[in-house]
Amino acid sequence: MRRAFFTCLSIGFLPLLILASALALVFADQAAILPGDFMGFLQYRPFFVAFLGVVLGCWFNRSRAVFAMLVLSFCYWFFFGAAEFLPPQGDRFLQLASLYIIPLNMLLFAFMSERGVFRKRGIARILFLAVQLFALMLLAVRPDVASALSKVLDVQFIELAGFANAVPQAAIILFSLVFLVLLARGRPLEFAFACTLPAVLVATLAGAKYIPFGYLAATGIILLALVQEAWRMAFVDDLTGLSGRRALVHALAELGGKYSVAMLDIDHFKKLNDVHGHDAGDFVLRKIARELAHIGHGGKAFRYGGEEFAIVFSGRDVAWAYDVLDHLRDQIAATRFTLPGKKLAVGITVSVGISEKDGRPCDAWDVLKEADEKLYLAKNAGRNRVVV
Ligand code: GH3
Ligand code: MG
Ligand code: MG
Repeated sequence: MRRAFFTCLSIGFLPLLILASALALVFADQAAILPGDFMGFLQYRPFFVAFLGVVLGCWFNRSRAVFAMLVLSFCYWFFFGAAEFLPPQGDRFLQLASLYIIPLNMLLFAFMSERGVFRKRGIARILFLAVQLFALMLLAVRPDVASALSKVLDVQFIELAGFANAVPQAAIILFSLVFLVLLARGRPLEFAFACTLPAVLVATLAGAKYIPFGYLAATGIILLALVQEAWRMAFVDDLTGLSGRRALVHALAELGGKYSVAMLDIDHFKKLNDVHGHDAGDFVLRKIARELAHIGHGGKAFRYGGEEFAIVFSGRDVAWAYDVLDHLRDQIAATRFTLPGKKLAVGITVSVGISEKDGRPCDAWDVLKEADEKLYLAKNAGRNRVVV
């Protein structure tokens, strides 16, 4: 439970921060403490942020974020821009339609596989968005059709007073359901998609004046999700979810005073791959990484490469690190790992070498190299052991 809470917090921190900032701006505006021309200044920002997001998304080949930015941009245009070309009924219809278009497209993107932007599928999906926009515009230019469709979309189930009528109740239900489904996906980009929904919905409920806040928050959330993704690609190992080699370089550079560094290697891993297949190897790597991720006691684990992991204990001596890692080694040796799709459980062991920084004039990489030499001793001494 505690772990789930912190996972949610780490995934959701930035989107929630942006949502909170947008709400704070709305309150600041209502309390009349913002400068008079602030809203005008804000008006075109969502397009700018969406443009940045599209550029970043194309660069990192994150097509789903690009599509989300495109949908938010064209829906925002329904509020600021489209009115010039349309009769008032058409404008109203597009604004109502946006309340269905956004959640439904976000839901679709959440279940889409990532297939790149400029590949055949990516281009087909962009064409699909263009067709939606084109179809909506075709309907919106006809005042009679637009007002008939507006009546269809403006579904209210019960009589409510005040701002609650600003949005069709069917759309509120749709927003809520899609929000919950996206949250349940439990992944960072889907979490960002989920957070765009309250931003847009609350702004629409609050009134036309606050639409720029909502869309700025929504596009900002996706932009930050992309930045977070760039950080993840650079520092986090994809297979195991542990920090990767680049993060280890930074962590070692920051070490000072007393510390210990350990190298952990899975025993006879090549044989496991050869006998049970590469997928079984990946499965075991993820299992061991999961144990290492929650090692605690001041230890932080990194995937060094292949089936080797480095564990850094800042401020801890070698005796401390030995106790923690020998306990972990013991636990792993006592566990039977059931391989997926094989109905077969295998035993895994690991060997560990640990070295500490004492008074000697050496840097963290030297300490890591010594830990690697101790690991070699552990292997030669018969494996499934910790050598210090
Ligand atoms: P030892 O007990 O001496 O460590 O033997 P070992 O077989 O574990 O070590 P060796 O270095 O001979 O083989 C390591 C193997 O790890 C070879 C490589 O195919 C496999 N490996 C490296 N990275 C991955 C990975 O990401 N996934 C999988 N499934 N296997 C990997
Ligand atoms: Mg090995
Ligand atoms: Mg190895």
